[in-house]
Amino acid sequence: MNQYNQQINTVSQIRQSDLFMIFSLKINPDSSQKMATFVGQTKKRMKSTIEQLTADYNNYAINCYRHLHAHPELSFQEFETSKFIQAELTDMGIPFRAGIGGNGILGKIEGANPHKKVIALRADMDALPVCEAVDIPWKSTVENVMHACGHDAHTTCLLGAAKILQQLKNNFEGTILLIFQPGEEKAPGGARLMLEDGLFDDIKPELILAQHISVDFPTGTMGFLPGKIMASADEIHLKITGKGGHGALPHLCNDTVLAASQIIVSLQQVSSRLCHPLTPMVLTFGKLIADGATNVIPNEVLISGTLRTFDEKWRKEAKEHIRRIIKETCNAYGCDVEINMPDGYPSVVNDEKITSEARKFAGEWIGENNVRTLETRMTSEDFGFFTQQYPCCFFRFGVKGEINANTGGLHNPNFQIDEKALTIGIGGIAWLAWKFMTK
Ligand SMILES: [Zn+2]
Ligand SMILES: [Zn+2]
Repeated sequence: MNQYNQQINTVSQIRQSDLFMIFSLKINPDSSQKMATFVGQTKKRMKSTIEQLTADYNNYAINCYRHLHAHPELSFQEFETSKFIQAELTDMGIPFRAGIGGNGILGKIEGANPHKKVIALRADMDALPVCEAVDIPWKSTVENVMHACGHDAHTTCLLGAAKILQQLKNNFEGTILLIFQPGEEKAPGGARLMLEDGLFDDIKPELILAQHISVDFPTGTMGFLPGKIMASADEIHLKITGKGGHGALPHLCNDTVLAASQIIVSLQQVSSRLCHPLTPMVLTFGKLIADGATNVIPNEVLISGTLRTFDEKWRKEAKEHIRRIIKETCNAYGCDVEINMPDGYPSVVNDEKITSEARKFAGEWIGENNVRTLETRMTSEDFGFFTQQYPCCFFRFGVKGEINANTGGLHNPNFQIDEKALTIGIGGIAWLAWKFMTK
């Protein structure tokens, strides 16, 4: 008998003994205390079953993680990653729909009575244009492309959890949807494309859970925060044009460099004067290209920046102020400007009730003292598109161990994870899914 069959048997044995208990309780209806004990025991048994399955899949997880890490693909180019996930799901006997919003996949684990309760679990799968600096055997084989945000770990954990939940599907009523999402790192965001491509046309989830690694927290921990957790993010791109010329004859030119400088300074009043003092907002310009010379005023200057906030109403208003100030400043310098401010990611807002339940369930799984409270951050995630439409919980699990105690953070060429954390990533989300399905 292979390992897979042994596990199936373990699960069905639990079911048979539980059914026997339910039958016994039916013929002794006064035994409410027995029922409480029975529920407690079943809970305990299921926890140890999921723990056992998670441990059994440890090698699978490491192999899967190393394969994905060695073969990263940039946002919206996750063709091989998508094929790999599809092959794994096929192997597990999990039906799926592929090609949603590009390389996105929706897997479906159906328990008894599939419409009774529907929840979704989401993982992202794209990598970044970063050149990996750490020399490990499973180092990226693709030049200048690296899984530097841990999306390889997220995909691994969802595949591992899928293996577990597929084996437990006769023990819950309802359906667990598995979302493997492309293009998290790049606008317009794979989440948005999948939703627009009818991701949930056939079946809608009551809630969606997503997890992200955290290099700030040690392996063995999970972190939660109800409400606003990450900001909206909109890109701002400007092209300022004017009549360039000799730097010593500015009266014959339109000084594009001075106009650009004034725009950057003036726009700071949007966050310091126009924004309500209690509304968080960041406006940062990290790119300014004025490619003239000591004595050349260029015809063109490019500026790019990012706008972050949590308030959707203010987000729209801020964009109007930004547009107005840019135009009026350019006008004052006799320059023209092209403004490109495409809609980026909305803020990520965790559902209060679901997040506090998830936090409680996580405490049962790893112990209260290993559950952390996350901070609100001005970083962003395209998971915001899901939180706008469905009750959601975005949480983190710690991946800081000995191996990466002093290495780089997210998006850094020295970024690494402690692979021991994969067990928590797999078991944690499988446990939360189980709890939400059976609560
Ligand atoms: Zn990232
Ligand atoms: Zn990420």
